[in-house]
Amino acid sequence: THFGFRTIRKELKSSLVGQVFSSVAPSYDVMNDLMSGGIHRVWKDLFVKNMCAQSKGLSVLDVAGGTGDIAFRIIEERRRAAVLRDMSSTSYTTPVMVCDINDEMLKVGRERANTRGYTSSEVSFFQGDAEKLPIESDSVDIYCISFGMRNVTDVQKALQEAFRVLRPGGRFMMLEFGKVDNPVVAQAYDLYSFNIIPKIGGIVASDEASYQYLVESIRRFPSQKVFADMMRNTGFEEVSFLNRTFGVVAEYSGFKP
Ligand code: SAM
Repeated sequence: THFGFRTIRKELKSSLVGQVFSSVAPSYDVMNDLMSGGIHRVWKDLFVKNMCAQSKGLSVLDVAGGTGDIAFRIIEERRRAAVLRDMSSTSYTTPVMVCDINDEMLKVGRERANTRGYTSSEVSFFQGDAEKLPIESDSVDIYCISFGMRNVTDVQKALQEAFRVLRPGGRFMMLEFGKVDNPVVAQAYDLYSFNIIPKIGGIVASDEASYQYLVESIRRFPSQKVFADMMRNTGFEEVSFLNRTFGVVAEYSGFKP
């Protein structure tokens, strides 16, 4: 693997993931566009549209929110909805709460929020670990996590935390890389991700190793069916997933009873 070990100890993983995201933070957004040919924007747009269709006015916690990609889309949706209703986008809702473990990613997120003119009543950033959230139990309407779950050290623990902070009836939503089930597409995707993505990382971000880690973390993450079962075992109900682009990514949804 990137770190020279097939299996890395749990306590090592979080510090290595920290190093990876500190290293990629400044080039994170450009790299996402380059690696996905821009399609990550479509996946995120669809994810947020789905979320906002049923969540106007609800509190949203964006865990592993990084540089604000999901939160900013939610704000734009809220602003559009507010214009339609002829009201202020801040008058009917709480700020989107962006939580991330990495200060460098949060710093880029805060700067982007300032540049775009998003106010503190629309978005708030704070540091926190998905495995031990600094949030009250039963308090959040929507917990979302986009391309973050595969980076946490203990996925089961993070799922339990999501369950804890959601209020009864609250919704868990996740966007994450999945397993491609079409064999032809899977082969092309493997070739691309193992051979080309780390090279792009080397050229653009001068950091081939971090992008090698990102590719490997995708391969190690559970399949859509396995993750949906993990959600059910945690206690979520009405669990479903929706594949995008042959399962390259999947949207997951579940409710706390
Ligand atoms: N959600 C953003 C997006 O969709 O573009 C950022 C995703 S980025 C691939 C993964 C993020 O997970 C990084 O910002 C990283 O710092 C964060 N992260 C990793 N482990 C975490 C943890 N245990 N708790 C909270 N955030 C974590």
